[in-house]
Amino acid sequence: MNNNSTMPKKDFFAPIKAWKFLFKKPVTIKVPYVKREAAERYRGFHINDWEKCIGCGTCAKICPTDAIRMVEVEDLPHEYGKKSQRPVIDYGRCSFCAMCVDICTTGSLKMTREYVHVSPDPEDFIYAPTEKGIHGIENIPVGWTKDENSDLLELDRVEMEMIEGEERSKSFIEYVKGYSKEQAMHEAARCVECGICTDRCPQHMRIPEYIKAIWKDDLKEAVNILLKGDLEQDMLGANPFSSVCGRVCTHKCEEACSIGNRGDAIAIRWLKRYIVDNISSYENVVNYKIEPRNKKVAIVGSGPAGLSAAYFLATMGYEVEVFESLSRPGGVMRYGIPSYRLPDEALDKDIAFIQALGVKIHVGVSVGKDIPLMELKEKFDAVYVSTGFTLGRSTNIPGTEHEDVIQALPLLREIRDFLRGEGPKPKIPKSLVVIGGGNVAMDVARSMARLQMMEYGKVDVKVSSLERTYEEMPADMEEIEEGSEEGVKFYPGWGPIKVVIENGKVKGVEFKKCLEVFDENRRFNPKFDENQKMILEADMVVEAIGQAPDYNYLPEELKEKLEFVRGRIVTNEYRQTPIKWLFAGGDIVHGPDIIHGVADGYWAAKGIDEYLRNEVK
Ligand SMILES: Cc1cc2nc3c(=O)[nH]c(=O)nc-3n(C[C@H](O)[C@H](O)[C@H](O)COP(=O)(O)OP(=O)(O)OC[C@H]3O[C@@H](n4cnc5c(N)ncnc54)[C@H](O)[C@@H]3O)c2cc1C
Ligand code: SF4
Ligand code: SF4
Ligand code: SF4
Repeated sequence: MNNNSTMPKKDFFAPIKAWKFLFKKPVTIKVPYVKREAAERYRGFHINDWEKCIGCGTCAKICPTDAIRMVEVEDLPHEYGKKSQRPVIDYGRCSFCAMCVDICTTGSLKMTREYVHVSPDPEDFIYAPTEKGIHGIENIPVGWTKDENSDLLELDRVEMEMIEGEERSKSFIEYVKGYSKEQAMHEAARCVECGICTDRCPQHMRIPEYIKAIWKDDLKEAVNILLKGDLEQDMLGANPFSSVCGRVCTHKCEEACSIGNRGDAIAIRWLKRYIVDNISSYENVVNYKIEPRNKKVAIVGSGPAGLSAAYFLATMGYEVEVFESLSRPGGVMRYGIPSYRLPDEALDKDIAFIQALGVKIHVGVSVGKDIPLMELKEKFDAVYVSTGFTLGRSTNIPGTEHEDVIQALPLLREIRDFLRGEGPKPKIPKSLVVIGGGNVAMDVARSMARLQMMEYGKVDVKVSSLERTYEEMPADMEEIEEGSEEGVKFYPGWGPIKVVIENGKVKGVEFKKCLEVFDENRRFNPKFDENQKMILEADMVVEAIGQAPDYNYLPEELKEKLEFVRGRIVTNEYRQTPIKWLFAGGDIVHGPDIIHGVADGYWAAKGIDEYLRNEVK
């Protein structure tokens, strides 16, 4: 220590001097206020475009702080592919990480450059963002939006392998190959489990659940979900035609899939097929405890609507007998849809399981001819009719009475019988005109193209339709594209005038230009230019312009009690007609496809169960 050191006098009195400021007025230096803009990509409060948002809830699922809740919004219009929910954000929890924005399936959710919000009320920090943000302002400067170069969602579908166009046109083998395990698991991993597809499916299949089971590689669970649906909701969502629907379902669910908003919809149909194709027999993995009910139900028609009702009734314990006029069960699935789309084995798998539950199918029995409907009423406790649209419609233009002008349905039936060795070879023309622009016309055209290729080594099939563009044609675009690859030629925008017949032989069809198919009220009312005409040459013509029901089996006294709207029978929601013991479903009630038939079978089975429990002692 330095003994000479002394403390300066100034430092000694300094603390005491400071006291003098205690009674002085403070001086504040005023700095001018400068508004500081937040950075371009600032993560401030959220905005959400409610028109675009589909209420999928993916933002809520990813939020690491659990800051998002989905809430019901009452006055949103009900639209397929949208839920009536919107996200609500709690800023007491939000960490402004922006993961919700990055994953948003529609791109509706964004963040702004707004970051100041003052309120003593904590409830003011919980709000449902709209386009006007937390302060209700128009044109808020947008901050963080999803990065353009990366994505939390996987937007590209795993490609399905198919046999190439020219190769596949040489045979009727199934050309869609199906997913491998790796492909299916990869595709399943793209699903965000939002369930929007379930709303769109007429049978409300439990799609996210079975996709998750694929992802977990638990096919036993997956097939149980497919066949049993939701056991707590009386099997809602079950589909006994999963093998069929895994191939040829009209897959409206995929149109609704939330991933489809920014990328490719999940391949729901192919994933369903993957499950059933990898289970050798449903009986090994799906078990039921069935309590017999001691009541009998008769079903007329073994299409998807009839056999689905049979399936659900059998699981409830009823004795079910199905009456089918053709020699094999399945309806259009067996005799209409070509085998390159739906092979017999795929259909047999579904039907075998229905039969294993005790359902008896009597084939070759035409109700109305071989057994009157009223006899079924006497022998059974309830009757369900699902006889489909089995008659063809004709354009009735001159020449359609010629034997080489035929209807789509009988021709498709003949082809399928021939291919399974149960009928003669159908007449194969060297050139063919198909009239009609829907999927049935495509089935005819693509089947005949195959037969021509197999017989003559070349294809001459021309498809004409009133609709003027491919987009307007009712056929699926993939059917048109695949048909073109197989050599089919398309002539959209032409209306047939007459079948040209020379020396007793069909030579072609004469057409006039179609200018418009529907009028301003969207009613079918085609308009033509009579001066623009053409002839498509052919030695056979197939009319594929629609089907109609055949109600000859219904006695007049029953018909009088039923109500028909545009050829379809009117029922209540349980498919019960005004005649209490008579239920109806499938194409004769709703249509237009297999999955609607399955849904009709489900609701009819519930209705029949209700009726037999309460009204038949
Ligand atoms: C060519 C074609 C292709 C199609 N492709 C597809 C597709 O890819 N995907 C899709 O989802 N939908 C498709 N559809 C539509 C779908 O097949 C039908 O919507 C569905 O089959 C209707 O089912 P259903 O049970 O009502 O009638 P159907 O399948 O028509 O079955 C009715 C059954 O009742 C029988 N029957 C009729 N009258 C009697 C009687 N008096 N006595 C005993 N039995 C009787 C018939 O023989 C038939 O077997 C297609 C339709 C056609 C015509
Ligand atoms: S920014 Fe992050 S923490 Fe905030 S709501 Fe979105 S995901 Fe949740
Ligand atoms: S993820 Fe996007 S579309 Fe889905 S609910 Fe959230 S904001 Fe709406
Ligand atoms: S398939 Fe699509 S719509 Fe369905 S749950 Fe998955 S992501 Fe959602």
